[in-house]
Amino acid sequence: ILSDEQKAADVLRTIARDPDMKDFVMRTPWLYRILYSAAKRYVAGEQGSEAVRAAVRLRELGYRQSLEFIGENTADAEECRRATDEFLALIKESSQQGLSADICFDLSHIGLLFDEKLALENAEELARCAKEHGQYVMISMEESAKTSAIYRVYEQLASRMHNIGITVQSHLHRTIDDLPRLLALPGKIRLVKGAFKEAPEVALPRSAELRERYLSLAEQIVRAGHPLSIATHDDQIVKAVLERGYLGDAYVELEMLFGVREEAARALLEGGIPIRLYVTYGTEWYLYLCHRLAEHPPNLYRALADMLEP
Ligand code: FAD
Repeated sequence: ILSDEQKAADVLRTIARDPDMKDFVMRTPWLYRILYSAAKRYVAGEQGSEAVRAAVRLRELGYRQSLEFIGENTADAEECRRATDEFLALIKESSQQGLSADICFDLSHIGLLFDEKLALENAEELARCAKEHGQYVMISMEESAKTSAIYRVYEQLASRMHNIGITVQSHLHRTIDDLPRLLALPGKIRLVKGAFKEAPEVALPRSAELRERYLSLAEQIVRAGHPLSIATHDDQIVKAVLERGYLGDAYVELEMLFGVREEAARALLEGGIPIRLYVTYGTEWYLYLCHRLAEHPPNLYRALADMLEP
């Protein structure tokens, strides 16, 4: 069963990035409708206003919020400008609604794929606007081929702005060496396992060893008194960080993706644990849906049930 799930995950990762497949879905109304009904479990909608409304509801329930306009690997400057403008509008709308959210983005959504300087400029514009409006920005982490460039951009920005943080993948072997440099900057570290399939020379697969490495990195960050988001749905990690008392420190929080493990998130919230939910939106929901299904193939059954629901 596991190998079938692994195969399903690989297929999903491939079709997530296939532009012909995406075009076909978008141009085929019945297919669009049923896939969107499965995506709706994970994305707030196609519009920023829907995501902001979802974040307001989460705030009322007591959750902290992250917001992302979904997208990556934007191929030209015009599209990057449009994406940056969308993020600027998101920052302003969040602030108008009195939210104090983390605004999250992939640097390849705003230029990194073809022009690192453009990505830096666009990210700086977002961080400045966020600062003006009392919001924080978080840079997501992408495939290992982009890690060094993402850190270069982050390090330049975080050395002069204090409302910008970075996502760090514990599965990458290099993270052990990168961490001390990142701890020298003030930005929040969002610690994740890593969503991308990488070669064994580059990263650990899901395993007990990865869990141990995750916990060891978390411990180093907590010991340094550094802002940390423990971003995982893994019960064993959550249990361990609760037992070790990490979440008693004001600068440490848990973070989960909206629509994934809702009951676990609610139980933690009710237990007084600071927890942030990561809300996404945008017309690229297809990409996001494939990622969520690939990272946990049993979700395919749930997605099928969502599609069949009248
Ligand atoms: P896993 O070992 O994948 O899962 C542990 C258990 O959690 C599973 O057995 C299952 O019970 C449950 N679970 C996990 N995923 C799901 C799911 N989709 N549906 C239902 N149950 C599930 N990755 C990046 O590479 N770059 C990023 O910038 C990035 N940002 C993230 C931001 C946030 C807030 C979060 C929570 C994750 C982010 N990720 C990012 C994804 C991350 O790397 C993992 O792929 C993802 O969190 C799944 O790993 P896990 O730690 O939950 O543990």
